[in-house]
Amino acid sequence: MHRTKVKVVEDALDANNTIATANRADFDRAGVRVVNLMSAPGAGKTTLLERLLEGGLDGVRPGVLEGDVQGSMDADRLSVYHVPVTQLNTDSGFGGECHLDANMVRSALPALPLDEIDLLIVENVGNLVCPAEFRVGEDARAMVCSVTEGEDKPLKYPLMFRTAELVVVNKIDLLPHLDFDLDRFLANLEKVNPGVPHALVSARTGEGVAAVSDWLVGAARREPAAA
Ligand code: MG
Repeated sequence: MHRTKVKVVEDALDANNTIATANRADFDRAGVRVVNLMSAPGAGKTTLLERLLEGGLDGVRPGVLEGDVQGSMDADRLSVYHVPVTQLNTDSGFGGECHLDANMVRSALPALPLDEIDLLIVENVGNLVCPAEFRVGEDARAMVCSVTEGEDKPLKYPLMFRTAELVVVNKIDLLPHLDFDLDRFLANLEKVNPGVPHALVSARTGEGVAAVSDWLVGAARREPAAA
């Protein structure tokens, strides 16, 4: 019984990877690089995107695919920056998926003006577990972890931290008010993903956002990696 369940999960992930590869091929053809942005709920993905879009990305034309269970609050927030924003809801009437998968992103492709953008930032559904398991066709993964979440998170959710190519440590303006041990967090991060770059950021004040912007510009100008 248990073995059957494991097989079903493996098949579902295989099917997802096949569609993710097709998405990547479509994005490559359009000359669009894709970054999958992940975090727990409330870590500050949308606020970070607001600061990034406000500041611009050094000539790189961004677009955003907003993943949420319900509603378009985040897409509405970002629409004032005059970049293409497409909302994708995972609620199909049964409570809603906790992550975006490759098929959902594929369904949004016709709504995305790929010829108007160089970099598509996919804001995934807030969750530290499931989004890490499902590729959507991205070239790179970035995650946001806020200092209010505790320094143990890399050890408790290793896949998410291990597959990220940039870890944004957000809400550093709150550090004076918290017991969060930044050195211990960074040591835990190093244990699960040795050498991964990190950026210390306050999306609220804008501190450190330039480093994230630079990383995204680099990701947008990267040659496509082999799928
Ligand atoms: Mg959001």
